[in-house]
Amino acid sequence: MSRGGLATGSVIVAGGGPVGAATALSLAELGFTVTLVDRGRPQPGLAAFGMDVRNVALSPQSAALLQQVDAWPSQAAAYKKMRVWEERGTSQLEFDAASVGRSELGWLVEVAPLLERLWQALEAQPNVSLVFGSVVDVAPADTGVTLCIDNDGKINELQAQLLIACDGANSAVRQALNVLIRNWQTGQMAVTTVVRTERPHDDTAWQRFLLDGPLALLPSTNPHLCSIVWSQSEVQAGVRMGLADADFCAVLTRASEGCLGQIQEAAPRQAFPLNQQLAATANPHQRVLLLGDALRVVHPLAGLGVNLGFEDLQELLSVMARGVDFNLPGQWDKFARQRLLRSEIMLRSLKGLKELYGNDNPWVGWLRNSGVGWFGRRQWLQRRAIEEATGLRNFSS
Ligand SMILES: Cc1cc2nc3c(=O)[nH]c(=O)nc-3n(C[C@H](O)[C@H](O)[C@H](O)COP(=O)(O)OP(=O)(O)OC[C@H]3O[C@@H](n4cnc5c(N)ncnc54)[C@H](O)[C@@H]3O)c2cc1C
Repeated sequence: MSRGGLATGSVIVAGGGPVGAATALSLAELGFTVTLVDRGRPQPGLAAFGMDVRNVALSPQSAALLQQVDAWPSQAAAYKKMRVWEERGTSQLEFDAASVGRSELGWLVEVAPLLERLWQALEAQPNVSLVFGSVVDVAPADTGVTLCIDNDGKINELQAQLLIACDGANSAVRQALNVLIRNWQTGQMAVTTVVRTERPHDDTAWQRFLLDGPLALLPSTNPHLCSIVWSQSEVQAGVRMGLADADFCAVLTRASEGCLGQIQEAAPRQAFPLNQQLAATANPHQRVLLLGDALRVVHPLAGLGVNLGFEDLQELLSVMARGVDFNLPGQWDKFARQRLLRSEIMLRSLKGLKELYGNDNPWVGWLRNSGVGWFGRRQWLQRRAIEEATGLRNFSS
């Protein structure tokens, strides 16, 4: 498909994952003519116990953004508390929404229904055209940007004034523009699944830092079903992926110290490699921006990936609200600097946290425990931490 003459305010969004779909909807609502490109409509993932096995934790800020574009999925599960403890320690931390005057810290949302809501909204939005195909090349110029799409061997060209790449961790746009990335290999994989627990989850997100990596039991709308994100070494992940269901449940009960009683049943497991990466810039050309996982990929231990992507979008919308001329150079400089700095801070914090909890030196263990105990006695500091985690405050902006 080829398009002649550029519409005023024409934008191509490459990638219709959560960040790309929300970006296309937000810009369409502002009156931009948006073309969203993806390989296809999202397909439902692995499901069990009536749930999608893939879940993401969303902050109140992300929820507000999704509500704004009328794409908030109806089955979101609010979590009101978070309990964090570790394998070698005696201290534990509990964060409570009530301590910052909120009724929840965030929500656990199944990815398949979230994408379905977003795509239904896209299909109903008159300012959005959907184009299916794989991005294979990008040609930015002073007057506009051209995106080449491969659709079953046929190459089509799309043109617009601005290209926003939301095409994920292996972004084809980023690669076509030779944007360098820094990559931190974690040597870890996340094993994910959904489990049925003996005791109710009490609307609490449970996270235990094991020496091998953090284990999270995340609540759903069913009080006895939790989604599991268990980061661990590649070797351990290989072993645990191969266990029979009953053995896996027993291992998980031990690893979670029976915080929800016995793990009674587990859905099929999936394993994802965990790497952190950061692109050298969020604005590789005057007419190209990188958002979401195309810009940076973070370790899932703090459930931040999509939230950071939605934060990129919120910042982009603030720039647009102040008025932006796509034809003028330098329009995105501040935005790009801020997003890179924010990403760098989050990547380094998560790397530091993972290393701190993965260290079995007894002195480090003692320091960690004392630190957690000290932190646990300081309500004001905990309140600040909750505000940061829920997006009510942003220390790095
Ligand atoms: C185990 C695990 C647990 C996680 N838990 C959380 C959590 O609790 N909270 C959280 O916030 N984040 C979490 N994340 C991270 C989160 O899943 C990602 O940050 C999020 O999916 C990124 O969204 P995105 O829209 O930027 O990219 P993606 O979701 O990767 O979407 C990219 C889109 O681009 C399309 N695309 C890719 N290449 C091309 C191409 N060449 N041409 C056309 N289209 C293309 C794809 O089809 C896809 O639709 C987790 C990640 C993992 C691995």
